[in-house]
Amino acid sequence: MLRGLLETFSRDAAHNHEVMQRFQERQLALLRAEDLIALLDCLTRDMRESFDLDCVKLVLFDPFQVIRDLLVAAAPVDKRLLRSIDLCSDIGATRTRFDDLHDPWIGPWNQQRHQPVFGRRIGGSVALLPLRQSDGLAGFLCLGSREPTRFQPEQATDCLAHLACLAAVCLENAVNRERLRLAGLTDSLTGLYNRRHLQHRIAQEVNRAQRYHQPLACLFVDADHFKQINDCHGHAAGDQVLQALAQRLRARLRASDLATRYGGEEFVVLLPQTDSDSARTLANAICSAVASEPLTLDCGAQLNVTVSVGVAALTGEETGPSQTVGATLLGAADQATYKAKQAGRNCVVCATQTSHD
Ligand code: GH3
Ligand code: MG
Ligand code: MG
Repeated sequence: MLRGLLETFSRDAAHNHEVMQRFQERQLALLRAEDLIALLDCLTRDMRESFDLDCVKLVLFDPFQVIRDLLVAAAPVDKRLLRSIDLCSDIGATRTRFDDLHDPWIGPWNQQRHQPVFGRRIGGSVALLPLRQSDGLAGFLCLGSREPTRFQPEQATDCLAHLACLAAVCLENAVNRERLRLAGLTDSLTGLYNRRHLQHRIAQEVNRAQRYHQPLACLFVDADHFKQINDCHGHAAGDQVLQALAQRLRARLRASDLATRYGGEEFVVLLPQTDSDSARTLANAICSAVASEPLTLDCGAQLNVTVSVGVAALTGEETGPSQTVGATLLGAADQATYKAKQAGRNCVVCATQTSHD
């Protein structure tokens, strides 16, 4: 009998050791995740695979859409990852779905409570781990298994609690790091990317265009007589016009296009996989979209604003260092804008030659 007991204990000890090791591996992976997307992947897909679960859902409170914006900026984000995350704006709604907002809750599947959390029927059993950060509850990591015995109320939850604690701290750090990184790349007035980011991305995009022999177009958009707007209506009104211009610009672009505020009243748009003709069509559409409807200022005043647009494009066959080819492309679009100004403004001019010698 003793030998039998000993064997059971040894088996249990080996099993526990294995479980502990898996927890440790997960914790190390959380600490090693190099950015927000990697961390979210680690908390969802990797967690599901490593713990052999049927479903993992990460519910995050995001009332001010901070995380949503970070995910949009980090595009392209894997669709599967997005399906595993629920960005929730109303913390109050959780009270009906989660029993315990402080400690892990484990127990049998409850259709009414857990279906809204996982978004589908799992059956079996679940573990709901609150993620608590310095400023309160940040969300829940929800683990679902079809096995009814996988998460039972009498089981210890120390390891799960420890994992949740670490996950919450890592999430807080990753979101803050990402916000800082993005703040350094965006223009605070318009929310568009800034010139520094353009410099970095233009080389990347040229590289890609060269590698895949694809075209790459660039628009240089400059507001007409903008100084007069400042002089007549004040600097604050000028700022509002810049914001409205950025909005109209963004409304015309695809997710893969990159709109940046290059300088004061100048915007540069990079259009991957876009040839000169398509870029000219888009430039004309932007020009008309700005001119066709007056911009309304906060004070109610309406302003007619126009832009001049210079277009330049690479065919994808240009050779040379990507930085230099990128600078040539940008210079050509800038020159074309200058010609559009000379031609009377509120128009589009295409650069004739953008090749790099
Ligand atoms: P053009 O049609 O030839 O482009 O004339 P313009 O008046 O638009 O060009 P100019 O370069 O003479 O003037 C640009 C003005 O943009 C001058 C500057 O005060 C203003 N500006 C630059 N940055 C900002 C900003 O952030 N906010 C506001 N309100 N004005 C700005
Ligand atoms: Mg200018
Ligand atoms: Mg101008």
